Amino acid sequence: MRKPIIAGNWKMFKTNKEAAAFAEEVKGQAAVEGVESVICAPYTALATLVEAVKGTGIQVGAQNIHWEDNGAFTGEISGEMLKELGVTYVIIGHSERRQYFGETDETVNKRTKAAFKHGLTPIVCVGEKLEEREAGRTKDVCREQTVKALEGLSAEQVAQAVIAYEPVWAIGTGKSSTAEDANEVISYIRELVKEQAGAEAAAAVRIQYGGSVKPNNIKEYMAKEDIDGALVGGASLEPASYLQLVEGA
Ligand code: PEP
Repeated sequence: MRKPIIAGNWKMFKTNKEAAAFAEEVKGQAAVEGVESVICAPYTALATLVEAVKGTGIQVGAQNIHWEDNGAFTGEISGEMLKELGVTYVIIGHSERRQYFGETDETVNKRTKAAFKHGLTPIVCVGEKLEEREAGRTKDVCREQTVKALEGLSAEQVAQAVIAYEPVWAIGTGKSSTAEDANEVISYIRELVKEQAGAEAAAAVRIQYGGSVKPNNIKEYMAKEDIDGALVGGASLEPASYLQLVEGA
């Protein structure tokens, strides 16, 4: 049985104080039996948030991780640094990182390995751009990104990973994929995992949908067999809507 996981991606939103205020508002309401809930906050809010969400049922994630433990990598943050703060999840290869910051399948793979090295759970993002979808290349793109991201991981690690299928054209646009289409691609990704890491890992790995998920459509996705939760940007920023998403899962 895979435990559903709702992960909020706050992107570059919320100061340290705003993050603390969010935690204060959701206190006592965010723990839903059988659902894992995670907030991936900016680095500057992580330490505060880890403290502020204690006892709320929420776990804290970062939005990136470097593959080295330390070194001359100005502006980067390592797994060692995140782990020490009490962070448990990390988003890797979000399409905004791929699009604006030169993230490649190779760096996604290195960051994913670094997450496991430090006992963090990676949320590895894959998904096609609009022109790729229109050219009928959705599955090819997902295959390339998924296979490369997971290269060199053990079957046990793959089983513990979270994959987020996020069609790029659906992120922040209000144009969500239908639950049927999302489930079809996610089933395909699960097949790929089976080829690469075996049936047990494929049955265990959690695969989320992401792209304009809101409280009013979360249930449609959760009703699908292969969809194990959602990675949510905009709708995770307000306490009330975040809570509705966790309850909807
Ligand atoms: C995201 O940031 O990963 C995302 C899916 O954003 P939104 O929910 O706003 O589309």
